[in-house]
Amino acid sequence: MRFLCDEMLVRLARLLRAAGYDTYLAAGGEKDAALLHLAREEGRQLLTRDRRLAEAAQPDSVRITGFGPEQEARRLSEAVLIDWDFAPFTRCVMDNAPLRPASLDQIDRMPPRAQALAGPFRACPACGRLYWPGSHARRMADRFRGIARPYS
Ligand SMILES: [Zn+2]
Repeated sequence: MRFLCDEMLVRLARLLRAAGYDTYLAAGGEKDAALLHLAREEGRQLLTRDRRLAEAAQPDSVRITGFGPEQEARRLSEAVLIDWDFAPFTRCVMDNAPLRPASLDQIDRMPPRAQALAGPFRACPACGRLYWPGSHARRMADRFRGIARPYS
């Protein structure tokens, strides 16, 4: 499953990328027609807060409601089957590029407390961001569990 988020859904797009889903984030000012075309062309579910745009893309769209990324993610989970444990931390949250194993050079540039971990160490080939399984990744995993089972 692949997604296209409208420009209002920046944080939801980052959550989906962190879970491993290929998620295109619309830049401000992209026309609705262009988004519809792209979603269709690339087989992406269109996620939007805009009722008209959601209707235009039916059945391959979800109208997102709620405040904040957790509520948005739950709304999405009600509409389509999302595995929040799909492929965690395999995609850059900023630009959607699939991560690659970090080189020794890149691992060298990570903070010592990160280097002390067992890995995996990853790097984004597009922006150079480095990823390691530290406290941020654990907090993100907790958020995914909260979204998948909000009432447990
Ligand atoms: Zn990146």
